[in-house]
Amino acid sequence: MPTGSGKSLCYQIPSLVRQGTGIVVSPLIALMQDQVAALTQLGVRAAFLNSTLDADAARATERALLAGELDMLYVAPERLTTSRCLELLDRAQLALFAIDEAHCVSQWGHDFRPEYLQLSLLHERYPQIPRIALTATADPQTRTEIIARLGLGGARVFTSSFDRPNIRYTIVDKTDARAQLLRFIEDEHRGEAGIVYCLSRRKVDETAEWLQSKGVSALAYHAGMDTRSRTGHQARFQREEGLVMVATIAFGMGIDKPDVRFVAHLDLPKSVEGYYQETGRAGRDGASADAWMAYGLVDLVQQRRMIDMSDASDEYKRVSVAKLDALLGLCETAGCRRVRLLDYFGEASTPCGNCDTCLAPPETYDATSAAQKALSAIYRTGQRFGAVHLIDVLRGKAGPRITRWEHDKLSVFGIGEDVDETAWRGVFRQLVAMGFARVDHEAHGALRLTDASRPVLKGTQQVSMRRAVTRVRSTRRPLRSGSVPVADLSAADNTLLERLKAWRLTQSRTQSVPAFVILHDKTLAEIARQRPPDLTALHEIAGIGAAKLERYGAALVGIVGGRVGD
Ligand code: ZN
Repeated sequence: MPTGSGKSLCYQIPSLVRQGTGIVVSPLIALMQDQVAALTQLGVRAAFLNSTLDADAARATERALLAGELDMLYVAPERLTTSRCLELLDRAQLALFAIDEAHCVSQWGHDFRPEYLQLSLLHERYPQIPRIALTATADPQTRTEIIARLGLGGARVFTSSFDRPNIRYTIVDKTDARAQLLRFIEDEHRGEAGIVYCLSRRKVDETAEWLQSKGVSALAYHAGMDTRSRTGHQARFQREEGLVMVATIAFGMGIDKPDVRFVAHLDLPKSVEGYYQETGRAGRDGASADAWMAYGLVDLVQQRRMIDMSDASDEYKRVSVAKLDALLGLCETAGCRRVRLLDYFGEASTPCGNCDTCLAPPETYDATSAAQKALSAIYRTGQRFGAVHLIDVLRGKAGPRITRWEHDKLSVFGIGEDVDETAWRGVFRQLVAMGFARVDHEAHGALRLTDASRPVLKGTQQVSMRRAVTRVRSTRRPLRSGSVPVADLSAADNTLLERLKAWRLTQSRTQSVPAFVILHDKTLAEIARQRPPDLTALHEIAGIGAAKLERYGAALVGIVGGRVGD
């Protein structure tokens, strides 16, 4: 099930209904505290055991477990598999085991955690206790692997649609990625929370600094930072509003912030699963959100290089190349992005109307002649040069390198001067993505012909390509008011909403929990719109359950009635 669709309920409700404590295995130590705080707000008896607890607090939690005073206990996998923890569980009454982020067990996956492999001991040691494994990101192959490794052979499989209809997918041709990013943030997401993914730590630092210099409240996050600033930045992003986190994929799994309005990629991820999981952190509250990526030949070269140069086994490299190719297919498609994305997860769908290719269908053209010229340029220059030089040759651009290699004497010199540089870049990128040319990393990124290029050069195979677009026109959505992702509040409603938010901020500070753990933006906006006069009316609003009504009802009705909340 995708992020934000209620996956947790699938083990939370059974944990409450069944006798004993539900044991939730989760690798997301940083988030356990917030998850437990959110459950406590709802009146659920929840606790966690992980390395952030001191010995006294851990012992208190263990006692509560043995005394049957817990509905749910969150445990990190490396802790669960210690003999101390297993002996503790032996003495407790257990309702179930829930293995969250179960794709971490997949050795081919992007989030592999070796300690997950040991979770197979659960069914050996506790054959009578029900087990459920959950993930938001798994292609059919990963699903099979989860079942095999966690010993879930006889289990029923529930797969819901992977679609996240509120996320708009956009992939733009990379020209000046940073400037493109800034324009995207300023045009569409000024003052809103978002995540920007980069491949390297250095690029993360530089991009965050640059965005700050342009007036965007940006923070950096990567594994090279010291633990204190890293967790400090994560906590600020989680708790404050309107921050942009620039990060490597180390910032990731299990960010539980519902109001992330965009996820931007300045570099290409490794696979469709990675892309889907990272972009899935946007819009968990169901309000409209953007997944935006700038993509160019340089990304393709970089990712292929990382695979080729790695020490991994040949089999692993083959799988990696296949995964990258699937993602390239998504980047290069002229059809609906969502159809392509869902198809990868084995789900059929129809064009969505909420992605860049649906909103502004790209023009495709018969690129056979352009492809032949480009491939000839590779061949005539001895398959020893990269795209930048080849484009100079095709466009007949004189320069010292051209003169030195006497490339101005070649028949291909200047045969493509009628086509601009951006368009040629698009041609070379697509040639590599389609497998007609390949990048030789041992020759400094020189392009070489592949066997597949022969029929094109001979003229027996047609090639169709996307026309390069320098600027994808932004199709504006109705403007949202301030930081609230819900439209159509009147000015008076907005004033009330601001008061409700100020009250929530005080609550969140007093209780040291993120604001959304108290109440979601959507719930506050609904209160501002409907103005419930009493507790009964307030209870009707989505997001106000019995526990929240008891805890906050009087204060909220007071604020709506014009009395100051406490
Ligand atoms: Zn679409």
